[in-house]
Amino acid sequence: MPNLIEKAKEQIQESIVQILFGAIAGLMAVIAAYVGPLVLPVFNSIPNNVLLTLLALSLLINIGLWYYVSHLSKQLRNLQDTKFTKRFGILWDKNYEPHCPSCKNMPSGYQEIKGTPKNRRAQFTCVNCKTTIQLSDQDGFVPLDYAREQLKQENIGYSV
Ligand SMILES: [Zn+2]
Repeated sequence: MPNLIEKAKEQIQESIVQILFGAIAGLMAVIAAYVGPLVLPVFNSIPNNVLLTLLALSLLINIGLWYYVSHLSKQLRNLQDTKFTKRFGILWDKNYEPHCPSCKNMPSGYQEIKGTPKNRRAQFTCVNCKTTIQLSDQDGFVPLDYAREQLKQENIGYSV
């Protein structure tokens, strides 16, 4: 089961492939600019400034992709460095956002199931693990707002 870090790695690999394609396209533009006029008379009809514009555009795309990859790498580093606190049966980051205890992904589909005090549940679904994560303490049901408020009071954001 791929976790978030593996997904980020895949994204980075994809971006590197894109950069390589961009670099090849740029190289082809340079070759076309030099060789084109000699082999293909049609290039003579294309003004040099058009070719230069294409070259500049290709370089710009490369720079853009480079920034994108740097951004992804930084996110990956942040994710690896993220510290979690386990409370109420779930992991919390320093921004009091819940994370799956198994894969550390952010779970979705928060819901509170009403019932008798013993049956009440507050739960998330981890789309990655396909599991249900319940927010609870020794007394059972813990709603998300209460859990967050509790963690803020305990100041977990500054203790890690
Ligand atoms: Zn998970």
